Amino acid sequence: MKIQITKQKNENYTIIIGCGRLGANLANTLSDNGEDVLIIDKNKEAFRKLSPAFGGLTLNGDATDLDILLEAQINNATTVIAVTNNDNANILVAQIAREIFHIERVIARLYDPEREYVYHEFGIDTICPAILSVKEIDKILSRPDILKNRLQEAES
Ligand code: AMP
Repeated sequence: MKIQITKQKNENYTIIIGCGRLGANLANTLSDNGEDVLIIDKNKEAFRKLSPAFGGLTLNGDATDLDILLEAQINNATTVIAVTNNDNANILVAQIAREIFHIERVIARLYDPEREYVYHEFGIDTICPAILSVKEIDKILSRPDILKNRLQEAES
């Protein structure tokens, strides 16, 4: 696949790694907001999750392969978001983005919260679904009215 990205300096260019439910939703949202976005997945069927209105680019390949990242023009990216289902792949890509290409904003999803310190050592922001869920459930438990409102919304 031939990729051509014409980018002005200071423009935002986001690369998302992993077109799962989270990656695809994120890509659709950024694209809806008019941002330049490219999404990479090693399984080309995964791109079916993108909305028909998605205006970004797709690249089929393993993002832990440096050639794929170069094809995605990672050197031009302002943000790299690694949200594959593999913590090792996410940390590797995030480290490459940060250490080799000096990308300003690097965010990685990790399933294992105990590995968070590894990312922070490298200046990588993390999101951990387990921790986010705990916080959200705790919020609901401490505010029963939130739960009541959500149930009412679901019923209507
Ligand atoms: P999900 O589990 O729904 O968040 O999906 C994760 C996505 O990440 C799947 O579509 C995988 O094919 C993709 N994925 C996993 N490892 C890699 C990798 N090394 N490079 C690119 N995509 C990957």
